[in-house]
Amino acid sequence: MSKNNLFLTSNEADKKSYVEMMEATVKAVASAMDHPHAYAGMGPYELREAVHTDELLPARGCRFDEILDDIKAKILPNLVRPMSTNYMAHLHSAVLLESIAAELIIATFNQSMDSWDQAPVATEIEVEVIRNLCKMYGYGENSDGVFTSGGSQSNLSGLLLARDWFCNEKCHHDVKKYGLPENFRKFRMYSSEVAHFSMEKSTHLMGMGYEAVVKVPVNAAMQMDVVKLRELIEADIKAGNIPFCVAATVGTTDFGSIDPLDELRKLCDEYGLWLHADAAYGSGVIMSEKYAHRVSGLAACDSITVDFHKMFLLPVSCSASLIKDKRHFEALTIHADYLNREEDEEDGYINLVNKSMQTTRRFDALKVWISFKMRGREGWSELITKCIDNAEYFYNQLIKRPDVEVAVKPEISSVVFRVLPPAGSSEDADTMNKRIRRELLHHKGVVIGQTVCNGNVCLKFTLLNPLQNEAKLDELLELILSLR
Ligand SMILES: *Cc1c(COP(=O)(O)O)cnc(C)c1O
Repeated sequence: MSKNNLFLTSNEADKKSYVEMMEATVKAVASAMDHPHAYAGMGPYELREAVHTDELLPARGCRFDEILDDIKAKILPNLVRPMSTNYMAHLHSAVLLESIAAELIIATFNQSMDSWDQAPVATEIEVEVIRNLCKMYGYGENSDGVFTSGGSQSNLSGLLLARDWFCNEKCHHDVKKYGLPENFRKFRMYSSEVAHFSMEKSTHLMGMGYEAVVKVPVNAAMQMDVVKLRELIEADIKAGNIPFCVAATVGTTDFGSIDPLDELRKLCDEYGLWLHADAAYGSGVIMSEKYAHRVSGLAACDSITVDFHKMFLLPVSCSASLIKDKRHFEALTIHADYLNREEDEEDGYINLVNKSMQTTRRFDALKVWISFKMRGREGWSELITKCIDNAEYFYNQLIKRPDVEVAVKPEISSVVFRVLPPAGSSEDADTMNKRIRRELLHHKGVVIGQTVCNGNVCLKFTLLNPLQNEAKLDELLELILSLR
């Protein structure tokens, strides 16, 4: 077979095809950005109809430019646009331009991070990025980490290492070899009632079930209540249960609240527990010179979940799991003759699969490498500080309004609030807030979040876009109030 549109090879005709396809795609994407809305596409039924196809695999294919026309017509207009300042629904961000360039390199060369011979320089770059990240979060020489598919996997990885450490060192039971110890139903970990559901998913996947997660009440600022935590641990010990881990949240998904890490560290030391930090959201705060102190407690945690596809503005997926003591990664190491032979390490070849739950894995570390180098400490500080400043500004505007209730003062960049019906309105507040969010989505090109706080339906601004500004936030607030 000789075809010049299969792969990028050293052949000149292949190179030409590559450049033409990429150029045409880049142009189509750029010209799709023709309006400032976060979403101006179809609703669910219409969209389903529009993309319905029984001909996904036609008998004869067609040219790339024909497909691109189809993409321009059907797909690009119906994509949500996280780069818009009208977008603030989730922890889902616009992506920095240089990271899109990185994605092109990642996809074109398709390195796989499991073994050195599939990713020579990529392996060495990931090792360097991880080493620098550990230093940035205040970890010492014995720390290590690995890139993962996201915060959920980073949490699972951290909690798995916590459980294995506890079984191996405290119970003298080799859990990797023999599975869970007989008393596993008594194992308990603690996370706050507003922690991410990946805590429960993780204990389920680890064979311990949701029951292993004890939900700790939060204070008015949505932070884990340490007094209540101590009471729960004491009660569990008294009942014969076995605490092994506290999972703090550094930036809760809804509120951005940060659990009190210093106090939690003391308590974990007292009871001999692993302290995991789910900083999927809050990990970005370290980049802000002005606000980094809010997450300085991360240095004392045994494991940290860092997400780069949230505050760090890098494309999905990009996340890391950091461990204070690298020996614990042994829990994820298993050797195979076809991949990661033990003799490789003796000869200086690093096979990153030894630390990872995934085998085949993307070269996501390149996106961190490129954006850190390009923006530098000052550039990064400015980006992150702006988002946190925006949240503070918006909060200060909201609390001035008698017709708005705010859930908590933001610690990072999320603001949860609800608007109240005007006097004489027949609509209750929950219905009104839900209706406003839908109207914004389908008629105003504005995509915001919705959640429940203390039993009330609330609206949520997750401010991850450093292009967001005060005038625009004022405008959005007026728009929301006008829809009551
Ligand atoms: C987003 C989030 C997660 C999950 O991360 P993914 O990257 O979506 O898997 C976990 N914890 C918190 C606090 C989060 O906000």
